[in-house]
Amino acid sequence: MMARLSRSSHDGAPSQAAADAIITFDASGRVLELNASAAALAGRTVAEAIGHSLAELFVTPDNTPDTHAILTGELATDSPLLHGRRVTLTATWAHGSTAPVDLVIARVPHADPPLFMGYLREHTPRSALEAERERLLQEQIAAREQLEAQAIQLQTQTTNLELASAELRDINARLLEAVQQTTDARRAAEAANEAKNEFLAVMSHELRTPLTAIIGYEELLADGITGSVSDAQREQLHRIKVSANHLLFLIDQVLTVARIDVGKEHMAMTRFPLRVAIDHARYMVEQKATVKRLRLVVHEPPDTLMIETDAGKVQQILVNLWSNAIEYTNEGSIQLDVQVAGGHVLISVADTGIGIAPEHLARIFDPFWQVERHSTRRHGGVGLGLNVTRRLARLLGGEVTVTSTVGKGSTFVVRLPLTPPPVKRRTRAAAAMR
Ligand code: ADP
Repeated sequence: MMARLSRSSHDGAPSQAAADAIITFDASGRVLELNASAAALAGRTVAEAIGHSLAELFVTPDNTPDTHAILTGELATDSPLLHGRRVTLTATWAHGSTAPVDLVIARVPHADPPLFMGYLREHTPRSALEAERERLLQEQIAAREQLEAQAIQLQTQTTNLELASAELRDINARLLEAVQQTTDARRAAEAANEAKNEFLAVMSHELRTPLTAIIGYEELLADGITGSVSDAQREQLHRIKVSANHLLFLIDQVLTVARIDVGKEHMAMTRFPLRVAIDHARYMVEQKATVKRLRLVVHEPPDTLMIETDAGKVQQILVNLWSNAIEYTNEGSIQLDVQVAGGHVLISVADTGIGIAPEHLARIFDPFWQVERHSTRRHGGVGLGLNVTRRLARLLGGEVTVTSTVGKGSTFVVRLPLTPPPVKRRTRAAAAMR
């Protein structure tokens, strides 16, 4: 049992005469002593008040038992939070009415078990000046916190900016390097183009000229203008002519590729019946088909089917496709069909030849690429025909495609616009370069 505090037990004991309301309680909040002023604040007599808990005499402003629990909990643990702090409580008067009181708690020094003294006073609302001062203080604290937060934010932004700026400098340096490399590459490409132009001029003159002369002299000899020619000599002259023409054809293919590469392939656009180009091409390959006993079936379009494009190039495309069909077909027929669809003409050349395996189909349009080289080489050519064909078709704004079955035959389809497409020549030239 806790001994009741007497006036002489310690200096801080509540005095009945004291004007200040003083109350003494233990760690559980039970009131041990109180003076008359304190009892009056609690709305009871001293005798009535002693032995009650603070919770019974007072309620906290929010009136919840939890607050009591916290209050007594803090007393029990002697929490420093409570010491010297002003807590506003609501005193419950004996007759039931209530009034706010302020309580300041202090621990009684050296008391064991712990004792607490509370100084009670009628609640005095803070003066307007105090409230204003506190509000200003709060504002100052908030403003300072905001400033500090802004300073931190600014610091972060500065750091980020410094990082970004370093990154930009780095990117800039790399861009400059890339620009330099591109300039070097362009200069190298321009030099290579110059060399190609030079090569074209030399090739055209140095190779084509003597070859044309050979063909011319062969014709003079064969015609017997310079003396009589025996049958055996005529046969040999014919072989010279065939070989020279083949060589001229190959040189022309190489030159076409080179001209397209440097964007120098000349375009001669005219409007003509498509049939004329087909007839010319057919004339150039007919003999080869006859020699191989292949049937050339040509479903010619009507004369009214007009096309505006480069006739020579259409002819060259058809000669290449027909030559290949004849070359890679041992028996059967080669059939040409023409269809018109959506402003385009589709010319198909279908053979009953050896066909092309699916794994080779994607490569046959590559320059110098031959299926034969990848198996046994039996056929002539250098592997430029289809490359030239596709490039010419693209130059004319069209395309060449193929479908094939090994052992059954292949069908190549050339799609050409009936009138030149409204794209810039440079775009077509770029497509043809691929
Ligand atoms: P080449 O000078 O060898 O004929 P091309 O570019 O014209 O060169 O053709 C490339 C390859 O595609 C040929 O070597 C051949 O293997 C294959 N090819 C082309 N046309 C046909 C065809 N009609 N039938 C079967 N194979 C073909």
